[in-house]
Amino acid sequence: MTDRIVIHYSEIGIKGRNRRYFERALVRNVRAALGPAAEVRHQPGRLVVKPGPGADPAEVREALGRVPGIAYFSPAVVAPADPDAIAERAVAVLSDLAFDTFGVAARRSDKGFPFTSPELNAHVGAAVVARLGKKVDLTEPDVLLRIEVTRQGAYLYAEKVPGPGGLPVGTSGTVAASLSGGIDSPVAAYLMMKRGCRVVFVHVRNETQFAGGVDDKIRDLVAELTRYQVRSRLWVLPFGDLQRRIIAFVPAELRMIVYRRFMMRLLDRVADREDAQALVTGDSVGQVASQTLENLACIQAAARRPVLSPLVGLNKEEITDLARRIGTFPHSIAPYPDCCSFMIAPHPETRADPAVVARSEAAVAAADQYLAACLEAAQVETFEA
Ligand code: ATP
Ligand code: MG
Repeated sequence: MTDRIVIHYSEIGIKGRNRRYFERALVRNVRAALGPAAEVRHQPGRLVVKPGPGADPAEVREALGRVPGIAYFSPAVVAPADPDAIAERAVAVLSDLAFDTFGVAARRSDKGFPFTSPELNAHVGAAVVARLGKKVDLTEPDVLLRIEVTRQGAYLYAEKVPGPGGLPVGTSGTVAASLSGGIDSPVAAYLMMKRGCRVVFVHVRNETQFAGGVDDKIRDLVAELTRYQVRSRLWVLPFGDLQRRIIAFVPAELRMIVYRRFMMRLLDRVADREDAQALVTGDSVGQVASQTLENLACIQAAARRPVLSPLVGLNKEEITDLARRIGTFPHSIAPYPDCCSFMIAPHPETRADPAVVARSEAAVAAADQYLAACLEAAQVETFEA
């Protein structure tokens, strides 16, 4: 029994004059997530969705659970804005649920309604006690029935399903996020979506190994993450030529750093084409040799844009939990040939000296030309949820 879905947002409610801008973006994103058959209306402080005819409730739920900007949503039934009609519907809604104690929490945005909120609570509560024989508990009820009375009618709901929270995708601009195929970088991309960024994905494809398996894995990850922003673009950049030059001209202990500095430059070039304002990586301080503060500084110095690393202070366990929750974990752990084994030195430099790195990098020679060629040979693909 679901007539409507009431969507509550958290942060966008407190954005002052920008509030309308955020609300419009959320309406747009909810429409995109549910398809054209759904009606999405904005009412003061909330959105109300009427699912399209024949919409599968489980699919609607799944889709809304992935729209950044939604704090929580509630499948709701509608009653006319009349105290007896509301009590009648309340009994029907609660008779579907298993519980011993209940509470009623009414709110009115229609101040012309004949009862105050406490009066409506008491009226509905009495009907439920009389008809279903349940007990009222105002402190810790098993079920809390919420009633919102608006001019268009009353919405009744007992369930709160959490969404990702945060801000609607697109309201914070665009970022270019590097995606490696590991556990971390997909989580970093997700966290930026949750902060309102549209994410363009960039994978740097190494070519010494069988690249086919890696591409499939990256595409699976992007498909999974696209469910949070509905539409994505993925750039796959063939790194073979630069990679061979790095192996030939850079000492083993510096290769990873030089490789990642070139990766920053590639990300910047994609960001130029995509109008992105920042770069994103899945770095977490101290996790691997390239993630000491010295090495991160040296890597990020190659970028022209701010480098955002939202996992920077998280432990691997925390990152893995997030990966499970957002659905990327199974794709990340699918086996594939390790794309970076040629870069892994037995004793990698953990405190890169920028001057030394610059000298080895200069030995790669004609890097600009190779970077440009890499962009020209890019495969760009669009994904739709
Ligand atoms: P991840 O699990 O994201 O691979 P990691 O802890 O294994 O992270 P690294 O493999 O050193 O660490 O990579 C650090 C970051 O560099 C990644 O999070 C990602 O943002 C970026 N990165 C690494 N390899 C690639 C690649 N082939 N293409 C694009 N980005 C990459
Ligand atoms: Mg990795």
